[in-house]
This record gives sequence, C-alpha cells and structure tokens, in this order.
Amino acid sequence: MPPVFRFAPSPNGYLHLGHAYSALLNFDLARQSGGRFLLRIEDIDPARCRPEFEAAIYEDMAWLGVHWEQAVRRQSEHIADYRCALNKLARLGLVYPSFESRAEIARLVAERERQGPWPRDPDGAPLYPGAAKQLSEAERAQLMASGAPYALRLDMAAAAARAGQISWTEQGEGPAGETGRIFTRPQVWGDVILGRKETPTSYHLSVVVDDTIQGVSEVVRGRDLFHASSVHVLLQRLLGLPLPIYRHHCLIMDEAGHKLSKSTQATGLRELRAAGATPADIRRMVGLPSSG
Ligand code: GLU
Repeated sequence: MPPVFRFAPSPNGYLHLGHAYSALLNFDLARQSGGRFLLRIEDIDPARCRPEFEAAIYEDMAWLGVHWEQAVRRQSEHIADYRCALNKLARLGLVYPSFESRAEIARLVAERERQGPWPRDPDGAPLYPGAAKQLSEAERAQLMASGAPYALRLDMAAAAARAGQISWTEQGEGPAGETGRIFTRPQVWGDVILGRKETPTSYHLSVVVDDTIQGVSEVVRGRDLFHASSVHVLLQRLLGLPLPIYRHHCLIMDEAGHKLSKSTQATGLRELRAAGATPADIRRMVGLPSSG
C-alpha cells in the first residue's frame, strides 16, 4: 500500500509561509515515496471558519504547485462520523459533561492559584479545574434537561488507565528533540474537551477519526502539535484505530523568532505573491529544494 500524507489547514485565516512549508513537505514526501497526498479542510468551528478562507486555501495551494486528490474532505460534512466515535467513548464510560462557562472556569483557576500554581497544558492553558466528573447521574440529567450548554470531556485518568502504556513512532522531532519511540503523556492535558452540546466533536477527536477514515499513514505536521499526539494516540488506542507514523517538523519563525500567525501580512502567501514572489521563491524561503 502506498503511504498516504495529508495537509489539514483550518480555514480561519489566510495561509502563510509555515503552511506552505507543511503542505510542500507533505507533497514532496508523497511524491518521493510514490504515495498519495490529500487535502483536508478542518472547518468544525463555524465561529472562526469562513468560505473565503477556504477558497483562498485552494487557490494558494494550486499556485504553489501542489496537487491533491479529490474529493477534499471537509470536516463540517462528517459530523455523524465524529458523533459515532464520541458515543463509543461514552459507552466505555470515559466521557462526562461539564457545565461551567469560560468565565466560571477562569474564576475556579484563579481560586486554585491562590493556593499555589495550577497545572497548565503544553499550550499554556490551565487544566480543567471543575468537579463535573463528580456530579450524580440525576444532577447531570437535570442540568442537561434545563437546556444549559455543556462540554463533553474525556475522563483522562480513566482513559489513560484503560489504555495502559502506549507509544508512537516519531520520525521527526518534538520541541525538546524527542524522537524515535515516544511514550504518551496525555495526562498533561487534563480532561480535554471532545465535543460540545452544539458540535459533538473537537480538534482532537475529528483529526483522529479523519486520519483513519482517509487511511493516512504518515502524519507530517508542525512541532507545535507534537504534545497533542499524546491525546491522538490515546484516542486511537481507545477507539481501536490504527496508529499512523508521526513526523513533526520545525516551525517557520518570523524575524523576531515568533511562530507565524495567520494575520501577519509579511509572511502571508497572498501578500508575497502580490509582491512578485514565485512558487520557487517560496520553496527557497522555507528551505525546500526547488525540484521537490
Ligand atoms: N488543522 C490544524 C491546524 O490548522 C492541523 C491539524 C493537524 O495537522 O493535525 O493547525
């Protein structure tokens, strides 16, 4: 079976040099290995995703000279697949609803921090501080019936205990140079959100479901997602899904050494194109060979 690669942007802004690097690297690796290259649109967040950004992704990718297979998988069209996976985890007793608003969570964290530092996840966000796991079935049913919004969280302690010790093969590198066989540490994320009342999915859940459905065998993506792989590999194990190989690549930084953002004009592909850059210039700028 030929290897399957993918590039999976979210249409919540215009692509920049960092995206170009990831897309071109995946495309080159697929070509060099006789593999397939897929494009996936990660558009589960209706508040942030916009059709003009999606249209721009296709345009910028085509301009770069990247060819992807049709049909493109758009996550918003596959909510039923994610719901099915979420239900499976719920049947294992690993999911619970939490009802605190963002403001309440912030207040709880501030309260905990008065007693000492409260743990944060690898992205710097405080772990879930609430006690919703302890609610009785009757209290849960009552809150849900009241129409209150809720998030569906993974009971991380139970999930990690059920999965046991698991590892993945890293062909790239984590932020501290981690490579080779990596043992997961999903506990550092706390009880992550897997879905919400309105959308029964999250980034973590949909990425894992899609990589399986699309037959992705090599996940090549930025190093900023290295630690998230612990959650992905855990979900793969719990759902009985195959594990891809991971290759986390370095991030393209701006001149001040910061990660690029979708709103930074200077490194946006559209701005660079308007200023006369060619696809060959983009390859040079991100350090990829011109031939691919
Ligand atoms: N959609 C994610 C992003 O834009 C990437 C997901 C992935 O490669 O796993 O950062």
